[in-house]
Amino acid sequence: MKNVNPTLFSLAKVYCNIFGHKLKVSKNITNHVHEYKCAKCGMEMTDTADGLLARLTPKFKETNAYIAKIHERRKRRLYARAS
Ligand SMILES: [Zn+2]
Repeated sequence: MKNVNPTLFSLAKVYCNIFGHKLKVSKNITNHVHEYKCAKCGMEMTDTADGLLARLTPKFKETNAYIAKIHERRKRRLYARAS
């Protein structure tokens, strides 16, 4: 993290404060839960179980990984039943 330009970083932050974050989906956890990353400042957000948008903390990352695993398993079971 030594090469990060602090001026550029804070400029992006100011931009986001004024115009809002430019969030892009970075990961699909389920059909309804996604992780987002701001294209400007790199801030990460996630959908929560309550349908809200929250800062992607390590705890949320852990929870999402867990949900994704369950979701994957459920999907596989559905396919198995269909075939
Ligand atoms: Zn941002």
